[in-house]
Amino acid sequence: MKIGIYGGTFNPPHLGHMTSARLAMEMLGLDRLLFVPAAIPPHKALPEGSPSPEDRLAMTVIAADSLLLRDKVAVDDLELRREGKSFTVDTLRQFREEYPGDELWFLMGSDMLFSLPDWHLPEEICALAGLAAFARSEGDEPERMEVQAEQLRADYGARVTVLRLPEVVEVSSTRLRAQLAGGEGAEFLPPSVYGYILRMGLYGTHKDLRHLTDAELRACSLSMVYAKRHAHILGVEEEAVRLARRWGADEELARRAGILHDCTKYLELEQQLQICDEYGIVLDDLERISVKLLHSKTGAALARHLYGQPEEICQAIFWHTTGKADMTRLEKIIYLADYMEPNRDFPGVEELRKLCYEDLDAALQMGLEMSIEELRERGVPIHRNTQGALEWLLEHRKG
Ligand code: ATP
Repeated sequence: MKIGIYGGTFNPPHLGHMTSARLAMEMLGLDRLLFVPAAIPPHKALPEGSPSPEDRLAMTVIAADSLLLRDKVAVDDLELRREGKSFTVDTLRQFREEYPGDELWFLMGSDMLFSLPDWHLPEEICALAGLAAFARSEGDEPERMEVQAEQLRADYGARVTVLRLPEVVEVSSTRLRAQLAGGEGAEFLPPSVYGYILRMGLYGTHKDLRHLTDAELRACSLSMVYAKRHAHILGVEEEAVRLARRWGADEELARRAGILHDCTKYLELEQQLQICDEYGIVLDDLERISVKLLHSKTGAALARHLYGQPEEICQAIFWHTTGKADMTRLEKIIYLADYMEPNRDFPGVEELRKLCYEDLDAALQMGLEMSIEELRERGVPIHRNTQGALEWLLEHRKG
């Protein structure tokens, strides 16, 4: 197996790291890539006011997840768990022990390639792993890097590859930290990492979470869920706005409800129950044991209490999973957008999509009936509010 190791302080992890990691992975044909955040980097002090190691780890996990390669890419916190300075040689020794028969590649930007002779025990580093170096900026000349590679081969018997990545993102964490403090730099970060920074108020951002722009709110929401869910959330936002336009509902409310509707989707049952406790959400027996039902309640609670959203949005999130009797137009829109946004694919979805733009109540009825049918087939109990929504609609549409 070919394993890549990408070390750094990741303070914060940015698109330069992620783009180079993805491309290097392809070019080297890696089976696995491990990001390794350093505890105390030997070659530079962490600047004052840097986030805690836990926050750097969390940001690196979110950034790695944004590559959408979960079976291949992971974050290893071995340097954070180790005492003292994070010498690369110690890390590679540990990996060598863990993966005795595998091919190790240490990934690095050009700056690291040039400074390698000054590191602790460079010769041993070169014996433990191959070095894969790439440019950090357009100005980095591959010819100069090749000369350095040749020198490392001669001095230490290093196995070095200079990768000419087809894309370079010119950014450094140092520059980003300064930009973030001044309210800029989001475009150099995976949106979910930016959202985490905003939620935690890192790097001097200190935004009032109750008055975020759409882009900031979206980033916060994405930072709370696995990246595999991002396309769905963006799809619901897009579909909800379209439906609001079609049916004369408030597009901005629809957008924000779409953005936040699944923000607590991946919280564990225990965390969900804690939020319910904190905000006095009363649960019935079925809700108490089902994360799937709980996330709409807890999502609504965070929309209200953390993100300061208006009541219509919170209600639309609250009812988006079960539905209920006598729903508002916005509640119907979010329920249906969740059901048939562009990424959804199931038998009947095209028909449902069409109906959503012809007759909202007929579409809601169809959605509820399909949902009840599917739950029955899976032997899952049907929530009384879903049943109630359908009964109300049948009665109402008759009259
Ligand atoms: P700082 O500005 O704080 O020095 P940094 O942006 O260099 O941070 P690190 O976490 O220290 O980030 O870097 C980890 C690794 O990522 C190093 O090998 C570095 O060369 C590489 N790297 C950093 N930025 C880029 C970039 N824009 N493109 C490619 N590689 C990069």
